Amino acid sequence: MTVRRGRHFLQIPGPTNVPDRVLRAMDRATIDHRGPEFAELGLRVIAGLKPIFKTEGTVVIYPSSGTGGWEAALVNTLSPGDTVLMFEVGQFAVLWCEVARKFGLDVDFVAGDWRHGVDPQVVEAKLAADKDHTIKAVCVVHNETSNGITSPLARIRQAMDLAKHPALLMVDAVSALGSMDYRHDEWGVDVTVASSQKGLMLPAGLGFNAISHKALAAAKTAGLPRAYWDWGAMIKMNADGFFPYTPATNLLYALDEALKMFEEEGLDAAFARHDRLAEATRRAVAAWGLENACLDPGLYSSALTAVMMPGGADADALRAVILKRFDLSLGAGLGKLAGKVFRIGHLGDLNDLTLAGTLAGVEMGLGLAKIPHQGGGVDAALRFLADG
Ligand SMILES: *Cc1c(COP(=O)(O)O)cnc(C)c1O
Repeated sequence: MTVRRGRHFLQIPGPTNVPDRVLRAMDRATIDHRGPEFAELGLRVIAGLKPIFKTEGTVVIYPSSGTGGWEAALVNTLSPGDTVLMFEVGQFAVLWCEVARKFGLDVDFVAGDWRHGVDPQVVEAKLAADKDHTIKAVCVVHNETSNGITSPLARIRQAMDLAKHPALLMVDAVSALGSMDYRHDEWGVDVTVASSQKGLMLPAGLGFNAISHKALAAAKTAGLPRAYWDWGAMIKMNADGFFPYTPATNLLYALDEALKMFEEEGLDAAFARHDRLAEATRRAVAAWGLENACLDPGLYSSALTAVMMPGGADADALRAVILKRFDLSLGAGLGKLAGKVFRIGHLGDLNDLTLAGTLAGVEMGLGLAKIPHQGGGVDAALRFLADG
């Protein structure tokens, strides 16, 4: 048996490392979720989430993963047979599309090459051509975690406005929230889907919807069946800090602590930290002579970098070497990119030296696995980090 010492390096793009103080915050005795102590916690975390989404509207919390948040967004606002516009930017977009189809929604799934984000001009053209307004929602993954490609939400909103189309805008911000600038109200997003285990530095188990007035109005006439995900019952109970069913109380303690951490660091400082670590990572990748999966430099993710394997080399074999030798976990290629990319997560609770250690593990692994590459990636990243 191999005995491992020191911390495991978990550098997958979610679930992410949970800070010690968040772990300690969860280590509490069970309380009555119908009692006064819980109500205070419930009210506090619901209010505390709003600035994270940059919304003054409604935020709901489910005991769920992010997939539950996708389902909630759809079933609360749409009716069977409704058309929704979605974009194949990567694997998470594919999965959201599958959820929509399972509910009998008619998805216009715009094909993509998994190397580019959503094109606002396509959004505008699709909506302008939809004279009868059969499209009820435009669904966009803000940060596609399978390939590190973002989509330009402000410009997508602008495209929808230019087309003068009433469709709802729904955004998957699961791996963006807390790591990259996000503006639910300013960008006119109707439903934002998020979850706890990525940028928010929490364990998996909380799903979120941020909801606009327009989405709340749509919920009044939406015809898809909904029970567990019903916003109505949730919002009614949330008014007093309670939930319609048993909440994940200890995860809410964790959320309470994570929100404090964001308040201390400042959201903008957290985003700047992610931007900087992402840039250092890209410099390493470029120095190695490897290719970023994202082909549009304007749309690089600050939460993760997906690296294309050169010449048909197997990404999973490389990851296996790195895990075995250095106790470092990197993200696997998903869906169409299985075996073709490895993903370096640089989101959540990490700093310069966490990243430097990660990049050192990758560079040594590239050598051990005999992947064609150039040296000097770590040096390039360190020079950038040392400069400020
Ligand atoms: C992680 C993730 C999800 C949700 O996945 P769950 O495993 O259900 O939490 C959805 N979208 C994106 C972009 C993600 O990164």
